[in-house]
Amino acid sequence: MYDFLIVGAGFAGSVLAERISSQLDKKVLIIDKRNHLGGNCYDYYNDIGILVHKYGPHYFRTNSKKVYNYLSKFTKWRPYEYKIRTYVNGELYPIPINRETLNKFFKINLKTEKQAKEFLKKKRIDIENPQNSEEEVISKVGWEIYKKFFKNYTIKQWGLNPKQLDPSVCGRIPIRINNDDRYFTDKIQAMPLNGYHELFQNLLNNSNIKIKLNTNYWKIKNKIKYKYLIYTGRIDEFFNYKYGKLPYRSLRFKHENYDKEYYQDWVQINYPNNYEFTRIIEIKHATGQKNSKTTIVKEFPCTNGKPFYPIPRNINYRLFEMYKKEADKIKNLIIVGRLAQYKYYNMDQVIEESLRVFENINY
Ligand code: FAD
Ligand code: UDP
Repeated sequence: MYDFLIVGAGFAGSVLAERISSQLDKKVLIIDKRNHLGGNCYDYYNDIGILVHKYGPHYFRTNSKKVYNYLSKFTKWRPYEYKIRTYVNGELYPIPINRETLNKFFKINLKTEKQAKEFLKKKRIDIENPQNSEEEVISKVGWEIYKKFFKNYTIKQWGLNPKQLDPSVCGRIPIRINNDDRYFTDKIQAMPLNGYHELFQNLLNNSNIKIKLNTNYWKIKNKIKYKYLIYTGRIDEFFNYKYGKLPYRSLRFKHENYDKEYYQDWVQINYPNNYEFTRIIEIKHATGQKNSKTTIVKEFPCTNGKPFYPIPRNINYRLFEMYKKEADKIKNLIIVGRLAQYKYYNMDQVIEESLRVFENINY
């Protein structure tokens, strides 16, 4: 008999397992259908000895001291600010769009933030309340930048036109009038010093926690006794798709090894208009690993496969709400995480939400 059964050993499940076992001194069984901990954050050393991220690059960043202090109990850090480039018209440009991008793209010479602001004022389309991702971008930078840097990347990534996506999707990427070329401006940006897998092992290192990998909830649900269920998988699957499937976007990852120290100068290069992949990642730049060989990963978006991205648009939110209402009716059930809450969460947001959920557990 367990006090809690937790489905999913990603950040949502693992943070809750850690809190419940250490703070409430309760017995937890955490299961995952995959053969490893960490959910989508899992990393491992590949055949040629390079630490790679199995499911896409995971750059940790946050403005939350609370999240950072919490995680710091389970890992040391390697400070690292992510700077990437995007390949447009045969050249590499800073992305997010900044003053250097504008100068290079429009072949001009804006020297100050004021000049850049004035310039964008002339380019931008006057839309007071952007209703979708196309409107979001053109209302800030106009059509030329939109078409070359955003439109095709978004179509490739989501299989949808930006017009069909919530403004928040392209709105994740800021537009800058200075020359800051960091991808994020969060106060804390770092990688777990020895990788994510070690961080998860430390999170779950408590005698109150039992871990079972290669274990699908649907196969064991009637064989295990527990008082509370914490579920971090797909919410539509939980209810046997009774209202229909919630769409998620997937990715196929192509790993390639090279017998040279670095393949590219940047941790990530985006390809909005060329090739079928959206980006090439060389995570070694971020992990800081020294090795004479390297591994890169190309990301090919697709419909079928593991559910990596909830697709932010109203029609999907409405369907999600129907499932959420069902979940709220079940007393001993807690749903949390990117899949279960159908939210385009970053890691720090999932951790913050899991800590909040823990505070509200009335055991
Ligand atoms: P997950 O990590 O998806 O964990 C859920 C787990 O539940 C999975 O391991 C799954 O196998 C398991 N599960 C599901 N159903 C069952 C079942 N029936 N039985 C047993 N187990 C089950 N965030 C950042 O902050 N920075 C980044 O740079 C970043 N990059 C990303 C890049 C990509 C390509 C992707 C897809 C995401 C990225 N994220 C990033 C987001 C980050 O991965 C998520 O916020 C975080 O991993 C969500 O944690 P979670 O526990 O909610 O979900
Ligand atoms: N985006 C884009 N061009 C880029 C980078 C991002 O159009 O060069 C858009 C695209 O729709 C993408 C979204 O902005 O899905 C969010 O980008 P982010 O890099 O945050 O995506 P993630 O790392 O979550 O896949």
